[in-house]
Amino acid sequence: MATPSEELMNKLVALCKRRGILFQSSEIYGGINGFWDYGPYGVPLRRAVEHLWWKYMVEERDNVVGLDSTIICHPEVWRASGHLEKFSDMMTDCTECKKRFRVDQMEDPNVCPACGAVGKMTEPREFNLMLKTFVGPVFDEEHAAYLRAETCQPIFVDFNTIRVSTRQKLPFGIAQIGKSFRNEINPRNFTFRSREFTQMEMEFFCKEDDSMQWFDYWHEQRWNFYTKVLGLPEDKLHIHWHEKLAHYAKKALDIEFQFPFGWDEIEGVHHRGQWDMSRHAEYSHQDAACKYFDQEINQAYFPTVVETSCGLDRIVLMLLCNAYDEDTAATAKEGMDEDVRVVMHFNPKIAPVQVAVLPLSKKLEAPAQDLYKKIRKKFRAEYDVTGSIGKRYRRQDEIGTPFCITYDFETENDHAVTVRLRDSMEQDRVPLAEVDQFIADKIGDLT
Ligand code: ATP
Repeated sequence: MATPSEELMNKLVALCKRRGILFQSSEIYGGINGFWDYGPYGVPLRRAVEHLWWKYMVEERDNVVGLDSTIICHPEVWRASGHLEKFSDMMTDCTECKKRFRVDQMEDPNVCPACGAVGKMTEPREFNLMLKTFVGPVFDEEHAAYLRAETCQPIFVDFNTIRVSTRQKLPFGIAQIGKSFRNEINPRNFTFRSREFTQMEMEFFCKEDDSMQWFDYWHEQRWNFYTKVLGLPEDKLHIHWHEKLAHYAKKALDIEFQFPFGWDEIEGVHHRGQWDMSRHAEYSHQDAACKYFDQEINQAYFPTVVETSCGLDRIVLMLLCNAYDEDTAATAKEGMDEDVRVVMHFNPKIAPVQVAVLPLSKKLEAPAQDLYKKIRKKFRAEYDVTGSIGKRYRRQDEIGTPFCITYDFETENDHAVTVRLRDSMEQDRVPLAEVDQFIADKIGDLT
């Protein structure tokens, strides 16, 4: 029997597939574990979050600039970063059911979490998470290369080129959004732990003496991103301070969300000291490219790094979990037989469709299309003419459309339309000429 939280996740996974938000990759071949495709309603949701992050972290700041580096870098990058040597988890196999697990995620390393067999687990062994490939026509170790396991390393490597080209002085940051790959032993919880995922990272370079203040600053900024920009409830988020720190780190925290499967990490804010820059200096032998020349004191030194690192797919999963709702009482209002309305309460800023234009009758298609073409220039919009109006509202509720505009026979006379609000199901009569502004104001109000 599924627990209530498993049931909720099952419903969410089913909804995401049914409505083309997000589904298993390569499904007709049986799927590939840990890889996910975003469909027509998933793409705008994901892009909206990405856009908000970039705007908040880069475009609205003078001291953070962008980078879009390649996924495959020189293999020495990963030797310098320690990934080739140490980026591994301990894994163990069950000799009974043949399933494989990460030791640190097992309640009891002696008991198989899948089949319950006791004393049947193999000796834990190390498993490197880097995905390997070969560059060029020869498939040997000399030509081995790796898909990046995190987006931050190319930022460290390109530090000097970016600093020189932008004339930035410490403190300043470099941000990047892009794919990362990890050969996770046990992908699970829908997209939470995937093998291919998108990271949004920002490395902030500063003086060692100021670094703790910057850590506190970025801690606050990132918290505000979730609570103010994305509008998530504070009681579903918390800070988990790391007790065990990496040897080079001075402070580290995770921002966690209360998923149906428990509290888990969506973002890390890390004080990385001078570790990354000094390692790249050591391995590249390009000391000057990894140091900052401080004209005030006429001296070069390794900048200290404070990092903010989150996963776009985990944020999207968090938003899906937070938005999912079933309400029973309100459905009768719109004359529907069903007693359950599935509704995604997305913040209108990130909703895949922000406005749906629904003509009451096919006879009204021509003017309704004109309105739709005007609306979609400003908002993510959709047009739907099939089925009863109640059914069309439900369809939009399921994908979280905050505003439905109904174009009816009265519109020709009063030059007004009905705007129906997703959450309250209230309806407002709004003059056609003011409908854009009405929606823009509501989006502003609700965020
Ligand atoms: P975890 O402990 O969950 O494996 P981590 O501490 O290794 O994560 P980081 O290396 O700090 O994670 O990565 C930063 C962010 O990248 C995480 O907070 C998460 O949002 C995202 N991320 C990391 N691994 C994955 C993954 N396998 N699938 C999806 N997102 C991921």
